[in-house]
Amino acid sequence: EEITKIYHRGAEELQILKSISLNVAIGDFVAIVGPSGSGKSTLMNMIGLLDAPTTGKYTLDQVSTEKLSDNELATLRNQKIGFIFQQFNLLPRLTAIENVELPMIYAGIGSKARRAKALDMLQLLGMAERGHHKPSELSGGQQQRVAIARALALSPSLLLADEPTGALDSKTGEEVLELILKLNAQGNTIVLITHDSHIAEHANRVVTLRDGEILTDVRKVPLRAELQMGVVV
Ligand code: ATP
Ligand code: MG
Repeated sequence: EEITKIYHRGAEELQILKSISLNVAIGDFVAIVGPSGSGKSTLMNMIGLLDAPTTGKYTLDQVSTEKLSDNELATLRNQKIGFIFQQFNLLPRLTAIENVELPMIYAGIGSKARRAKALDMLQLLGMAERGHHKPSELSGGQQQRVAIARALALSPSLLLADEPTGALDSKTGEEVLELILKLNAQGNTIVLITHDSHIAEHANRVVTLRDGEILTDVRKVPLRAELQMGVVV
């Protein structure tokens, strides 16, 4: 609600986000589009609890984030948000399985349970055969699948993707998009940031940013009634 973000450069004040209000429903698939520099990643950092707004109110899963300490924010972030990035951000020395296990180690899940869960997630993403490969032994699309498996490992409330197909060729990007659509159909809530309007066309709702403001907010697929009530099926 009415999120602003101001950066300071010397004496200069740069208002990067100007009163953004956005309500994302459980189970929805929202694309945020806009030209380079319009504030998409800045907004993603707020939604993902990586950075705090200058003013405004952010509520995630009925938790008001305003007064939380850095530690509490980190805990909430780990529990509730799964991130997917353009550059995959896998750890190069770890195998695919170990990368997927990583957030579960931080969450204190025992070794047997997390190995089983990691294998399940890799299977879901069609990567069961590649679990013992290092990122450098995988294609870009395969690395992104591992990154998505990792993002889903703790069953986040929200899957947040910043240009997830930006580093992929168009065919591989299409495959990753198909996967994201499948995850949404299974009930995952997704906010996807892209400057690619073709990718955005597949979302249920497209929010266009321009100079730190919401220019348009178009719902293309009606929000299912059960989602409005917060029931994920
Ligand atoms: P792209 O499509 O290129 O990724 P974007 O829409 O994600 O662009 P942002 O990264 O959110 O854009 O940046 C929005 C504006 O905020 C840009 O003008 C950028 O230079 C500025 N900006 C971002 N981070 C900072 C910072 N830490 N300090 C100062 N200015 C910043
Ligand atoms: Mg960006």
